[in-house]
Amino acid sequence: MNHQDIVTLDNVSLNYHSLEGETPAIQNISFTVSKGEFIGIVGPSGCGKTTILSLIAGLMKPTSGRVLIEGKEVEGPSSKVGYMLQQDHLFEWRTIQQNVLLGLEIQGKISKESKQRAIELLETYGLGDFRNHYPQQLSGGMRQRVALIRTLAINPEVLLLDEPFSALDYQTRLALSDEVTNIIRKEKKTALLVTHDISEAISMSDRLLVLSKRPGTIKSEYVIKLTGQNRSPVELRKAPEFREYFNKIWKELDVHVS
Ligand code: ADP
Ligand code: MG
Repeated sequence: MNHQDIVTLDNVSLNYHSLEGETPAIQNISFTVSKGEFIGIVGPSGCGKTTILSLIAGLMKPTSGRVLIEGKEVEGPSSKVGYMLQQDHLFEWRTIQQNVLLGLEIQGKISKESKQRAIELLETYGLGDFRNHYPQQLSGGMRQRVALIRTLAINPEVLLLDEPFSALDYQTRLALSDEVTNIIRKEKKTALLVTHDISEAISMSDRLLVLSKRPGTIKSEYVIKLTGQNRSPVELRKAPEFREYFNKIWKELDVHVS
């Protein structure tokens, strides 16, 4: 193991068991994520993307193979990993600040310092004036930023993002993809982003994993290199290489309306 490796999946398979029998969701998945890397994961619906994130989050154990974080086998959920979902799961009766502090409360990690850090995150990322507002007073994009800051407040090493923008309109998701990338890079976090939006994945990721249909296996891997003035995903969509990646990945996913 390279000392920079933070997440490792070593030949991981997972079968779900139900009354109807056994469903293989993912099969022999191996990959490694370096510290600070931004990994995109795309693949057809139902191919096991959420399953992969749940395994890294320690919410389930693989049927076979190993999942490691910083070289140690994942035994269960830990504060090393933060999970952000499509729904923001903010509590409507709590203020923005109270929502952001929730993760720390649950983990019994509320201290003067951790609270201060959470408030600073809100201020740094443009939500300081909304500390005492309630979620319903905020737009969908702002709510997702609050959800990200709540995840960052527990100071995880690894962020898991499962289709975090898919409930939002196009303009908002575009703007938010910029903001979220910026925040994650500034905070020097490692991230795994699952999305069905190929453009989003290409523009945000350092490396992209393409999965086959269920049971998901890694079909191919792309190291994304886009030429641009800055690393803003919105700007990077205009890079000359962008369309090339898009066409290749589009073909591989074999997206068609049947
Ligand atoms: P994705 O996120 O790529 O859409 P999932 O990881 O959610 O896919 O699911 C992969 C496959 O496993 C799907 O076919 C899904 O129906 C099945 N599956 C997911 N969760 C369960 C479960 N709890 N029990 C049985 N089958 C499941
Ligand atoms: Mg999913």
